[in-house]
Amino acid sequence: MPSPPPATAAPKPPQDKLSAPARALRKLGLARDIDLALHLPMRYVDETRIVPIATLRDGDTAQVQGTVRECRVETRTRRQLVVRLADDSGELVLRLVHFYPSHQKTLAVGHLVRARGEVRGGFFGREMVHPEFRAVAADTALPQALTPVYPSSAQLPQAYLRKAVASALARAPLAELLPAEVLPCGLPTLREALLFLHHPSPAVPLETLEDHSHPAWQRLKFEELLAQQLSQAQAQAARALLAAPVLPPRSGGLAARLLATLPFALTAAQQRVVAEIGADLGRPQPMHRLLQGDVGSGKTVVAALAAAVAIDAGWQCALMAPTEILAEQHFRKLVGWLQPLGVQVAWLTGSRKGRGRKAMVESVASGQAMLVVGTHAVIQDDVAFARLGLAIVDEQHRFGVAQRLALRQKLVDQAGPSPASGSDGEGAGHSKDHEDGVRAQLEPHLLMMSATPIPRTLAMSYFADLDVSTIDELPPGRTPVLTKVFADSRREQVVARIRDEVGRGRQVYWVCPLVEESEHLDLQNATATHAELGAALPGVVVGLLHGRMPQAEKAAVMALFTAGAMKLLVATTVIEVGVDVPNASLMVIEHAERFGLAQLHQLRGRVGRGEVASVCVLLYTAPLSATGKARLQAMAETSDGFEIARRDLDIRGPGEFMGARQSGDALLRFADLQQDSALLQHARAVAPRLLRHHPAAAEAHVTRWLAGRAEFLKA
Ligand code: ADP
Ligand code: MG
Repeated sequence: MPSPPPATAAPKPPQDKLSAPARALRKLGLARDIDLALHLPMRYVDETRIVPIATLRDGDTAQVQGTVRECRVETRTRRQLVVRLADDSGELVLRLVHFYPSHQKTLAVGHLVRARGEVRGGFFGREMVHPEFRAVAADTALPQALTPVYPSSAQLPQAYLRKAVASALARAPLAELLPAEVLPCGLPTLREALLFLHHPSPAVPLETLEDHSHPAWQRLKFEELLAQQLSQAQAQAARALLAAPVLPPRSGGLAARLLATLPFALTAAQQRVVAEIGADLGRPQPMHRLLQGDVGSGKTVVAALAAAVAIDAGWQCALMAPTEILAEQHFRKLVGWLQPLGVQVAWLTGSRKGRGRKAMVESVASGQAMLVVGTHAVIQDDVAFARLGLAIVDEQHRFGVAQRLALRQKLVDQAGPSPASGSDGEGAGHSKDHEDGVRAQLEPHLLMMSATPIPRTLAMSYFADLDVSTIDELPPGRTPVLTKVFADSRREQVVARIRDEVGRGRQVYWVCPLVEESEHLDLQNATATHAELGAALPGVVVGLLHGRMPQAEKAAVMALFTAGAMKLLVATTVIEVGVDVPNASLMVIEHAERFGLAQLHQLRGRVGRGEVASVCVLLYTAPLSATGKARLQAMAETSDGFEIARRDLDIRGPGEFMGARQSGDALLRFADLQQDSALLQHARAVAPRLLRHHPAAAEAHVTRWLAGRAEFLKA
């Protein structure tokens, strides 16, 4: 085994001089004054009024002010600080179970104290337990506005954050950037909106602040949506300025020859998307296209055809998958399709090291390998393409923000000047010379594939800079998977069903859930299930597959299952994406209630890939939560990935739908795509106008809203 490269001692970063709360501010992306000014309260507390103690009722949350009559450490039941506070109207006990000497000092007898908390009847009479409190002077003024409570973190006390926001708000450049003509009617200026939302008058009905319907909130949401639309439009415009190799489809070329060798004809939907992709590849701007199609709709062959077009034009193609298992399946499939046609395919993954890797890297660098398949190892630093023309990312939603940024960077880096050879006018060598004489850099085309469709509202906002092709039809002859939801108590019945299926020569998956907190438990769980099923099914070859197995072992297990020698495969979610064994007809998902809808749909897509009728059994452990029930019901009711995505969005909301990790900078902080669709429409409508007639304002607006976020993401 070759040893890993020696770890070079990285130079230590300069000693961080920031205080803990200042670092916590950075962590929240609150670096610039404007970022703090845009950090809005999640709720408010009313400290503008003092309530006479005698008028308090149990359950009230109120602020009182009085003189400390007594302050003693009580030890009869448990050690606690008991303070008697009196105003003109009556007396109240403040009780602190956890306290420090500093608290005793503040609450010393004779001090005038302002306290705020919930009132209840207690052992010592009417009391507040752990109220907020501070000593005040008789003439300490009451605040005029509600006190904001900000989203924060454990390292960042509210008081610190309040001060930071208040001083940033005073300094932040809040001049009105947007011309009135692009604003929805009746909204305050940004400065007015912010001053108000940070310190609203107590006269304002709290509901309009809490449900974000107040015009000040509307203004903020509109600003945010507009920034997002503008940045998408800018990205689109920037892309239009980029140059990409022109990869024209050739009649009778490699793609045509591949089509001729396939054992099936493309569906109409596949033909349509192949044409859409082909048109993009034939243009001198980089393609930026998402190919979405339900599980099993046949995206791989579309990718292969796109690759064939690129290769035919003399350019390399890279295909990236999120897991090694999936990458290997693609590799086998593509080798099977393209090698006979004379294309050399290379294979790069994280577990491939040493000489094998070196040889591959060299064949990529020399341009000998025209197609490179692998995991994100394909974009590692030591990999340099001779001439990368097309990058394809499968199951792109599974890659994190960091990996996607790395890919984008890599694509830019790979873009060499257009090669001198192979140029025939409009062909591969076509390059534009900019007016200033600098030769245009060629950037590869990018095709992303996903089985998780993007709902329309998301497509309009987060992915406005993306062209979308959709395969909305499954290949013929598929029988829809029948989905059954069973309580775990019916496990034995399910095992009997497995015996039947295997007896009929079919194969079965059994998926064990991920235990969030512990990969170790996860493994234990899968191992135990493997043993249990092996014992319950004598004579049946039962395999085990989990994420922590060495790659070679994983590959060996998959090979046995693919070949049909192994009948039952117990697996963790490593099989979630892309695995293709048409003879598998039964899928059992244990603790199905722990999976997300999209994930369940992906898993279920592993069966029903051949012509045999298939069944998916969702085992749950009672009791089920309401959302858990809704999810499993949705799975049983529909097998349409688009419908499932829509319901997922309903159940979870867009932020969670995409996962913060995946949506990254795209995530909206204030606006809600469903609730604020009118504002979104307005922002979409005015963004182009603003860019055209007020480009400086547009630029400044995007910077104001998004620059801090971008930095935050890079960190
Ligand atoms: P996915 O879109 O989920 O990635 P795949 O590309 O893995 O789907 O295709 C699923 C299966 O369907 C594969 O075995 C593939 O070879 C097959 N297939 C793809 N297109 C067709 C077609 N037009 N007719 C019949 N089978 C097809
Ligand atoms: Mg696939």
